[in-house]
Amino acid sequence: MIKDSIDTLNQKIKDPFDLVHLFTLLQDAQLGRAVFSTSLGQEDQLLTDHIFRHALEIDVFTLDTGRLFQETYDLLSTTTKKYKQPINCFYPKHDALAQLVSTDGINGFYDSVEKRKACCGVRKIEPLRRALEGAAVWVTGLRQEQSANRSALHHFEYDKQFDIIKFNPLAKWTLEKVTQYLDTHKVPQNKLHKDGFVSIGCAPCTRAISEGEDIRAGRWWWEASHKECGLHQIKN
Ligand code: SF4
Repeated sequence: MIKDSIDTLNQKIKDPFDLVHLFTLLQDAQLGRAVFSTSLGQEDQLLTDHIFRHALEIDVFTLDTGRLFQETYDLLSTTTKKYKQPINCFYPKHDALAQLVSTDGINGFYDSVEKRKACCGVRKIEPLRRALEGAAVWVTGLRQEQSANRSALHHFEYDKQFDIIKFNPLAKWTLEKVTQYLDTHKVPQNKLHKDGFVSIGCAPCTRAISEGEDIRAGRWWWEASHKECGLHQIKN
C-alpha cells in the first residue's frame, strides 16, 4: 500500500527541480503531518527558505547534539531571526548522555566505530526518533550527488528504520544549483563553508576538505569507510 503510493508519487513528478511542483504533490497526496529535519547545511538552508517563504505546513526541527560548531549555533540564531519562524531543537536525554560519557569518555567516539555509533545513537538517533513521532512524512535535504550511497535516491521513499515516508525534494540537485539558489535568495549560510567545510556535523567529527575530495570525506575522517551517522540508511 505505502509502496504503491510512493511509486505513484514518484511517477507524477514532471520537473524534479521545481520545488513548488514537488511540495504541491506532497500536499495533494494528504499523507499526514510532515516534518523537516535541518542540520543547517546548505541543502537544508535552501529548504528552510522555501518552506518558510511559502508558509508551508511543515514543522522544522534540528538535532542539537551539544557538540555543534559555534558557527552552526550562530546560523541557527540568524535563521530563526530572519524568517521569524521557530526551528524546534531536540536534545539528547540527560541520563543516557551522562551514562555514555561516564562509560566511553567525553571523546570516546575516536576510540572505535562502536563507540562512535553509540555517541551518534544517544546524541542523534534517539532524539530523531522522538522528533519523528506522530509524523507521516520526513522531509530531508539529501541529494544523489552527495555520496555513492545516495546515488539511487528517489524523491519519495519508504524509510524502514523509522517507518516513515521520506521526501527528498533535492534528490537530483547539484551542489552548484544549490549554491546558486542560496545566492539568489540571499539565504544565510554557515561561515565555515568559506573555509572548506562542505558537509558540517558535530565539531569534533568534521574537518574541512581539499579540492577533489568526496563531499563527505570530512565526516569521521579517521574511519576508513563510514560516512553516514545512521540517520539516513540509504537503500540501493
Ligand atoms: Fe557524537 Fe561525533 Fe556522532 Fe556528533 S557526530 S553524535 S560528536 S560521534
